[in-house]
Amino acid sequence: MSTTVTRQIVKIDEDLCNGCGVCVSPCAEGAIQIIDGKAKVIREELCDGAGFCLGVCPTGALTLEEREAVEFDHAAAEPIIAAKKASYIAQHCFNCNASEDDAPLLPVRIKGDSTWVCTRCLPALIHG
Ligand code: SF4
Repeated sequence: MSTTVTRQIVKIDEDLCNGCGVCVSPCAEGAIQIIDGKAKVIREELCDGAGFCLGVCPTGALTLEEREAVEFDHAAAEPIIAAKKASYIAQHCFNCNASEDDAPLLPVRIKGDSTWVCTRCLPALIHG
C-alpha cells in the first residue's frame, strides 16, 4: 500500500490548460501526459514536485501546491528516466541554436513564447 505524506506536487489548472503538450518533455519522470486534450499528472508517485514543467507552460496552468499525496517513488521513476534519456530529442537555444548536448538549457518566457536559452546566452539576456 502506498504511503501518503504532505509534500509539494504539481497542480494543473484545467481551465488554463490548452493541451499543447509542452510540459510533457521537461518531466523526466513521465508524470504528465495529455489526456482528452488536457495535461494530467497520471501517477502522483512519479511527480517529484521539482517543477521543471512550470517554466515552459505558455498559459500559466502549472503551479506547485503542498498537499497530501503519495510519496515520490524513485524506483518507479528510474526506468522511465532511463527510457527518456535513451530516446530524447535535444532542444536548442533560441538565441545561438546551441544544443543541450553542448550547454545546459533553461526554460525562458519571451514575448509570450515559452522557449529555451543556453547558459552561455543567459547573461546577455539578463544584462542586455
Ligand atoms: S504546457 Fe501548460 S497549457 Fe500546455 S499542456 Fe502543459 S499545462 Fe497545458
